[in-house]
Amino acid sequence: ETIGANLDRTVAAFPDRDALVECETGRRWSYAQLAADVDAVALGLLARGVAKGDRVGIWAPNRAEWFLVQYATAKIGAILVTINPAYRVHELEFVLNQAGVRTLVAAPSFKTSDYAAMIEQVRGRCPALDDVVLLGEESWDALVDDGRAGDPAALAAAGAALGADDPINIQYTSGTTGFPKGATLSHHNILNNGFFVGETCGYDAEDRICVPVPFYHCFGMVMGNLAATSHGACVVVPAPGFDAAATLAAAEAEACTSLYGVPTMFIAMLNDPSFGDRDLSALRTGIMAGSPCPVEVMKQVIERMGMAEVTICYGMTETSPVSTQTRAGDSLDRRVSTVGTVHPHLEVKVVDPATGAAVPRGEPGELCTRGYSVMLGYWDEPAKTAEVIDAARWMHTGDLAVMDADGYVSITGRIKDMVIRGGENVYPREVEEFLHTHPDVVDAQVIGVPDAVYGEELMAWVRLRDGAEPLTADAVRAFCRDRLAHYKIPRYVHLVDAFPMTVTGKVRKVQMRAEAVELLG
Ligand code: ATP
Ligand code: MG
Repeated sequence: ETIGANLDRTVAAFPDRDALVECETGRRWSYAQLAADVDAVALGLLARGVAKGDRVGIWAPNRAEWFLVQYATAKIGAILVTINPAYRVHELEFVLNQAGVRTLVAAPSFKTSDYAAMIEQVRGRCPALDDVVLLGEESWDALVDDGRAGDPAALAAAGAALGADDPINIQYTSGTTGFPKGATLSHHNILNNGFFVGETCGYDAEDRICVPVPFYHCFGMVMGNLAATSHGACVVVPAPGFDAAATLAAAEAEACTSLYGVPTMFIAMLNDPSFGDRDLSALRTGIMAGSPCPVEVMKQVIERMGMAEVTICYGMTETSPVSTQTRAGDSLDRRVSTVGTVHPHLEVKVVDPATGAAVPRGEPGELCTRGYSVMLGYWDEPAKTAEVIDAARWMHTGDLAVMDADGYVSITGRIKDMVIRGGENVYPREVEEFLHTHPDVVDAQVIGVPDAVYGEELMAWVRLRDGAEPLTADAVRAFCRDRLAHYKIPRYVHLVDAFPMTVTGKVRKVQMRAEAVELLG
């Protein structure tokens, strides 16, 4: 099934249910209203000459039009190129040229980002780009007006020419470990993944999902938007640019049943001064994903936020994204400390990265995924694709994992983040989890730094609770002594107020390593 056909079915089944709420402006759409607006945008794009396979870029923080453009492009088979709102001219030019974007839909500006000015700066160097539409401005209004006056038969004809295996989205990875790569995904890839995420969360037309994570990333556009629309649920969009207080207010005001976030967002919400004043009693479930979640944080999400059925998803952009997920019925221990079991219709295995052979259960190795969710490939990068997808179609994730006898997967880190200190493998995650048990520690991130004697040494970056006495490196080491093996005890401790982050809320350890080298000078 295509995304457009799937949306049409939901619209027919639930025309009057809420589909989309934009909290900042109070605008809301029922499924019938959504369908009318999506079709207008789709016809407007057709009128501007956009055809199946053309790349349409979207560059904007979360707002209702982002959602409309996602479905409008899917209906006509244009390939949506989702552009990170934090990008600046250099990255914008790269992405527009790498993906060959023909039509760019963008917010004119947001906070300190003047998108319109940046587009003008790169336009002359992007030969494929021949149309720019600015949201909220005349060019957007004209597109919608043209679309409303358009002939619905043209849309039906465009839809009839689509296949579920056609590419529909170029989704760039977060750039946590280097420059982002453009994963090319089909209707079949992302629609099914969204559907199964929604099914695992138990969504139906009663659900209202608060999505503060960026739409430009699969967490928002697949696990949020597609999971919602494939089950008739409603997407609630808090004010763009994550703000903990605004997100909590949105979840309360819209009686959300589900709330999404990466671990750092949930930490911010739990520690926000407004947290205690919010009535979140409608919350039933939600998704924690994107990076390793400290066990303590998961427990607090369940207990203090009342998200009794919250699940953890594990995945990556290249696999549409979700490969494993915890279920509400799993034991509490597994729900807070593992990423659950394999998703429907997928396979996962753990291999020795050196030989490619599966390792016995309980032993660490590289996680691999196979099935409908594996991307078509990196856009225009066959060599890079061949590095990660093998001849038997297994996607090699670059993540280290352990699978237990019952199939529960634990992510122990990224291969690129593993520290080898004096010949011993140290998984930063384990040390981070331990540091989290210190009462003054709000967040901790551990990296390896070059060392003349041991090859690498451990460095912990620690964020303390507001008002806590500064911890010295010695105090941190004393806390670890007798509780962690000596080679896992951080040699260096650096106190910070924040970590370098991607827009998807992931800690950029590459950048931490670069800064650490300077700090240690
Ligand atoms: P890049 O590939 O550009 O370096 P990235 O890998 O962070 O960036 P994404 O595709 O957004 O880009 O993220 C996928 C990665 O996020 C996974 O490979 C994994 O390392 C991490 N991840 C996702 N979910 C979880 C989770 N629940 N627990 C631990 N790690 C997770
Ligand atoms: Mg990656």
